[in-house]
Amino acid sequence: MRTTAFLLLVAFGGLASAQNIDWPKVNDELLRHYQALIRIDTTDPPGNESKAVDYIRKVFDAEGIPVIVAAKDPARGNLIARLKGNGSKRPILLMGHTDTVQVDASKWKFPPFSAMRDGGYVYGRGALDNKWQVAAGMMTMLLLKRGGVALDRDVIFAAEAGEEAATEPGIEHLIAEHWKDIDAEVCLAESGSVVRNNGRDRYALVQTGEKQPNGARMVARGPSGHGSRPMRTSAVLHLSQAIEKVALWDPPMRFNDTTRTYFEKLASIGTPEEAERYNGLFNPAKAASSREYLAEHEPGRYSMLHTSISPDIISGGFQINVIPSQAEATLDIRSLPDENMPAFYDMMRKVINDPAVEIIPESKNGRPGAPPSPIDSEVYRAIEAANRKIYQVPTIPTMSTAATDMAFLRAKGIACYGVGPAIEDDDAAKGFAAHSDQERLREESLYKFMEFQWDVLTSVAMSKK
Ligand SMILES: [Zn+2]
Repeated sequence: MRTTAFLLLVAFGGLASAQNIDWPKVNDELLRHYQALIRIDTTDPPGNESKAVDYIRKVFDAEGIPVIVAAKDPARGNLIARLKGNGSKRPILLMGHTDTVQVDASKWKFPPFSAMRDGGYVYGRGALDNKWQVAAGMMTMLLLKRGGVALDRDVIFAAEAGEEAATEPGIEHLIAEHWKDIDAEVCLAESGSVVRNNGRDRYALVQTGEKQPNGARMVARGPSGHGSRPMRTSAVLHLSQAIEKVALWDPPMRFNDTTRTYFEKLASIGTPEEAERYNGLFNPAKAASSREYLAEHEPGRYSMLHTSISPDIISGGFQINVIPSQAEATLDIRSLPDENMPAFYDMMRKVINDPAVEIIPESKNGRPGAPPSPIDSEVYRAIEAANRKIYQVPTIPTMSTAATDMAFLRAKGIACYGVGPAIEDDDAAKGFAAHSDQERLREESLYKFMEFQWDVLTSVAMSKK
């Protein structure tokens, strides 16, 4: 009897606090944490993420939220915090990374660690990548704790180190030494966004999968000789012919649930020309011309269709009058999650069709491969609902061509969704992108993301009765 009354009270308290959030007050506090995090220099390398961990730990200590500091290297701590639920559902993990890429401070209009506010934006290294997410994760934990919100599942917050460079002190350490502390059914992390155009939110991109980085060396060999007597057997000549063949090759196209839905939805919200182009990918008679258009004009989308090859380093030769006996290229290969790489390399060899050229796969190049996360799960549906409610926009699942730390979690079986704030679609071209010299985020976008995340969490984690 007393237990029931207590549970009712807690549940009521949770619902009441979820509905009566004083958002202007929350936004002020969120902005304060966000700016404080940007002002901590965590450029990686060396990282020094423990300085950010100290900041978060002090805030959580003051509110009675227990934390674990997980550090392989004392200067490069990760922070994990957990609010317990009743265990009827498996945990949800909110993850953000505290490290940033380097800066060339001389190029910045506002000092990179000033978190300067100007014209409705906050400027600074990490403004977009990824301190807004750390701040919003912190704020979510604070609201849940203060509201005494009754939870059906544990809510875990992880501020990870080492995302931008070597991942050993960050996600790899968490997985190796703290798996039980971060293991969850589902994770929300970076690399999604709400695409704005002319000041209007248009659609939300949720990253549900990513390509896997692979690498290979392409080595051409031939007789050496005198540069005054060019030879058709030249290693440099054979290498350059092979580079041209693989770089212009259109490897077999293949969709998964995410990429199929991505192009279908882009078609459904696009102009008539865009609709024809994206729908054309599914029409055998038109697919080749759609692919050719994407190859030329939309390389990011083209890369989503197949395993891609980019020749990025070439070397060979040492003196102008010497024909070298060897020349080589390093290839950045980004494979579809289900690619059979030995078979793919065999296809490449056939495309090159030259016994003087050898393909040598490199064993490890970064993050593991994993199938995309489902787009029909409870959490994915809650994300769709929150995007409709908060932004009035449709949700489009997307597969990154580059890799994030979600790859490690997906490989361990956690469904991961990359979510993110609303960003004007030409902001990157104007020089305000992540990793750029004027990284920035609209304050309004930060606040709206917070509401979005709160809506998702209360939908999938808060006890309903
Ligand atoms: Zn990032």
